[in-house]
Amino acid sequence: MRDMSIVIYNTLSKKKEVFEPINTNRVGIYVCGITAYDYCHLGHARSAIVFDVIVRYLRYRGFKVTFVKNFTDIDDKIIARASREGKTIYEIAHRFIEAHDRDMEHLRVLPPDFTPRATDHINDMIELISRLVARGLAYETPEGDVYFAVNKYPNYGKLSHRNLEEMEAGARVEPTKRKRHPLDFALWKCSKEGEPAWESPWGKGRPGWHTECIVMSRHFLGETFDIHGGGEDLIFPHHENEIAQAEGVSNKPLARYWLHNGFIRVSGEKMSKSLGNVTTIKDILELWHPEIIRFFVLQSHYRSPIDISEVSLSEARTALRRFYTAKQAMLAHLSKGNNEEDPEMLAALERTKSKFIDAMDDDFNTARAIGYVFDFVRAFNNYLLRNPSKKVIIKAIETINEMGNVLGLFQEEPQTFLGADRERALRRYELDRGLIEQLIAERNEARSEKNWSRADEIRKILSSMRITLKDTPTGTEWSVD
Ligand SMILES: [Zn+2]
Repeated sequence: MRDMSIVIYNTLSKKKEVFEPINTNRVGIYVCGITAYDYCHLGHARSAIVFDVIVRYLRYRGFKVTFVKNFTDIDDKIIARASREGKTIYEIAHRFIEAHDRDMEHLRVLPPDFTPRATDHINDMIELISRLVARGLAYETPEGDVYFAVNKYPNYGKLSHRNLEEMEAGARVEPTKRKRHPLDFALWKCSKEGEPAWESPWGKGRPGWHTECIVMSRHFLGETFDIHGGGEDLIFPHHENEIAQAEGVSNKPLARYWLHNGFIRVSGEKMSKSLGNVTTIKDILELWHPEIIRFFVLQSHYRSPIDISEVSLSEARTALRRFYTAKQAMLAHLSKGNNEEDPEMLAALERTKSKFIDAMDDDFNTARAIGYVFDFVRAFNNYLLRNPSKKVIIKAIETINEMGNVLGLFQEEPQTFLGADRERALRRYELDRGLIEQLIAERNEARSEKNWSRADEIRKILSSMRITLKDTPTGTEWSVD
């Protein structure tokens, strides 16, 4: 019998642990969202896709998941941009939250259940800071800032597995007059003239970033919840600081499992050849189909670092096109399939699904899970050549849709995917569709006149433009390779 439990790598223990939610079949998950001052880049895409799949998978495994992801809509960078553009912070945040939502929709990232904004929770933040001050874990400076006193909280460093001295050396921050310890972090910042400000016991000011997330997560998920996630760059100081405040105030763990996705690095030179230094999601999706980006991210384990380059994206594209071509063949064979039962093939399908689940149960190993889908598709291509059963084809499509739905992949009609992908390939290589179609028409004319050498010459010209032709009974099809 298969082991039915999900195993998750917990940054807190640096080990894989059996996943046991607080309430048997409910899961609360909080992921740190964006600071809305600019367009989202590839790093945001990776984190969003990774946690989208984790949520999808937990739901697939029968958990009732509440997924919260915040927007930071008050921050130094937002204030700076607002003042530069003569706008309010709300206008800046609104613009980039809308852009974020559009990017996520294109990447097929499902919307979280709750998407709180920091400025809607200021009163709760003030209350939490007051409690930390009352407990002696935070102090006010003469200027009206409030800092968390890291050396008053004995567990500081437990998430990043470092002690205060090591961190102090690593952080290279000089103690200032205002801060008692160089690693003390701001909970409340007094506002300068003209900056957005809220009334507080310490005068007019605004909350620090690290306080936002615990207030919002606890508001929706309770004092202790199951999973807290984010990019690995958030482990220190952001998540460390969240833990210090939350546990400092309640003596209860903030979250049971801490999950962090690895970095995505852009291989500058290769990428820049055709893409410039394009790394915003919005711009990259002009040139690459969203599903290619999603596939590229998920074909590595979420904790591994990944390098994105034109070559690695092209490889992901080749794999996906192979998948959709196979799906096209399956659909085409539906009308030709026989009506026999084929228990052996149906059992093979069940085995693929159970291997897929095993891989996902093992710390959401999408890389292995995708491998099983492709192994199956490859084998199924051969099966289609041997008088296939209609029932098996239907079941295969269902199974692939089921696994694909967990990954947010493989859901499109093949024609739609291949067409949208070709449009982007034309844009990427700056190819002129009109010219291509004209050359194909000329070639067809040459062929009808039996002018084979001219037809061949045109094929070569097209080939040098990356265009591959396929002559079918209904006409000439072309693709960009
Ligand atoms: Zn956060």
